[in-house]
Amino acid sequence: MGNAAAKEVKEIELPAAVTVRDLAQMMKASPIDVIKVLMSNGIMANINQQIDFDTAAIVCAEMGFEARPVAPPEEEKQEAAGEMPAWRQFAQGEDPSRLKVRPPVVTVMGHVDHGKTSLLDAIRKADVAGGEVGGITQHIGAYQVVHSGRRITFLDTPGHEAFTAMRARGAQATDIVVLVVAADDGIMPQTREAIAHARAAHVPIIVALNKIDKANANPDMVMQQLADAGLVPDDWGGDTMVVPVSAKQKKGIEDLLEAILLTADASEVIKANPEGHTGGTVVESELDKSKGPVATLLVQNGTLRVGDVVVVGNTWGKLRGMFDDRGKPIKQAGPSTPVSVMGLAAVPLAGDLFTVEIGERAARAMAATHREDAAQALVTHRAAPMTLDELYARYKAGQAKELALIIKADVQGSLEPIVDSLSKLSTAELKVNILHQATGTISESDVTLAAASGAIIIGFSVDADGAARKRAEAEGVDIRTYQIIYKLIDDVEKALSGMLEPKYEDVVVGKAEVRQVFRISRVGMIAGCQVLEGEMRRNAKARVLRGAGLVFEGSISSLKRHTEDVKEVRQGYECGVGVEGYNEFQAGDIIEALVQQRVS
Ligand code: GDP
Repeated sequence: MGNAAAKEVKEIELPAAVTVRDLAQMMKASPIDVIKVLMSNGIMANINQQIDFDTAAIVCAEMGFEARPVAPPEEEKQEAAGEMPAWRQFAQGEDPSRLKVRPPVVTVMGHVDHGKTSLLDAIRKADVAGGEVGGITQHIGAYQVVHSGRRITFLDTPGHEAFTAMRARGAQATDIVVLVVAADDGIMPQTREAIAHARAAHVPIIVALNKIDKANANPDMVMQQLADAGLVPDDWGGDTMVVPVSAKQKKGIEDLLEAILLTADASEVIKANPEGHTGGTVVESELDKSKGPVATLLVQNGTLRVGDVVVVGNTWGKLRGMFDDRGKPIKQAGPSTPVSVMGLAAVPLAGDLFTVEIGERAARAMAATHREDAAQALVTHRAAPMTLDELYARYKAGQAKELALIIKADVQGSLEPIVDSLSKLSTAELKVNILHQATGTISESDVTLAAASGAIIIGFSVDADGAARKRAEAEGVDIRTYQIIYKLIDDVEKALSGMLEPKYEDVVVGKAEVRQVFRISRVGMIAGCQVLEGEMRRNAKARVLRGAGLVFEGSISSLKRHTEDVKEVRQGYECGVGVEGYNEFQAGDIIEALVQQRVS
């Protein structure tokens, strides 16, 4: 960018997404003016709405500014990489020149009855290659279809429960989320949840606007709702692809597959090295009466072969048989291929990671170590801090840069001011990131999202249901509920401003009166005391008081009962006290012993 030209126009740096309010502030303009410019460009936005960089850049241009993207600082990039374990982890160690584009892995999410299952069925049946083999595919938890000569992998456990449960285990198999929204029903609570889950996982969203065959379908209403939720349709100048489909009449399926491929092409991370170290994620597993443990593995890097020795979570095995999603035996499977395998010693868990290892002995040992580490891993696999205290400690240690929150409230009317006030609390160092906001009881799904994302759940005039409480306890998720808005805001503000940083105070734990003074060669002055209150402790801080005045501060370097060194002497007993660096005790002095105690 030429500097000479830039002189004329004022430049501002914009993040990938910005709220209307913040954008206005950056340009020192009124939010109303920004909203007007957006409206003149066909975008209806409210003051708290996030708009993406491209949209914001247009507004800037119309208001006499030039927008430049902010380059993310190096450490933030690393943090982002750390948030996408599966697809990066496996390909991370690979030489970038050896990475090849692999089929995208897609999860279908959306509100109940909006047509997730029907859509997955329609996609499977629309596949010509699948038709050739004849017969319905096996259910192994995932399948592949071919579109325009390219393969796409679908995980066919719809919904965000499975998606998030996996993420909570440190795995992530999904590259793209297809969000099914029924055109006659619009955005519903689980649609919002799904959006929050996909966003928290940094996975792009494509909207399948389903049931367009219905007479009461209202695509315009849904588009407006999507835009309000921050998914501005591409037809409206945003970057969310919205594809009208009818799962029932099998219409629009090809368009949807096309959109998936376009989204995959825009991504730089859907890559793997087919020749690299083989690894991936368990999609499904079961104990089959005749076959023994059977698991569906999604290969994410390298190539999996029959006869390979794999370590899967806490178990291992030499692969005896491998089958594709049509039940056909296959010899090998490359990146993004789901395969059903036999030969494992035990049934692994969905979301467990697997790797191919050299030699059975090594694999067995590794599996054993994983087993031993399991309890530990449960702790370390946690995405992030779970309590405000922990969060602050991590922030201090440079490990946390944001406070992720899930907000539930009784009614929309209280949700808005809460979210609004909380968003304003972000400081330069610690950002408030509201992953999900909704009305209603705190549910198990909120807890899984929190666990997977290291978020804290805040409830206003709502409680958590039984299942959510149980889950929160098991996962160590912090749920805080409030009845008063300002208390809620105050608590979060405290967390952010460092008031939750543990504070320590000197607390007097004992008092002794000096009765006699001894001088001992090489040791110095020892005060023969009687403990009046509490206890004197060796190594405690000491204050020597004479009358009302403080005459010395130091630490108790020696403490004796008769001739024996002791750690503490209680009230009523006599003892000899030496205070480091002090040799001027007088009878009648008071020695206080102090220790640091955490105050809340
Ligand atoms: P899920 O709960 O999201 O998996 O939804 P389902 O796939 O089970 O579908 C719920 C209901 O909506 C079923 O009765 C389907 O037949 C119906 N349905 C799904 N897709 C369509 C569609 O495109 N058009 C119409 N008219 N009905 C659909």
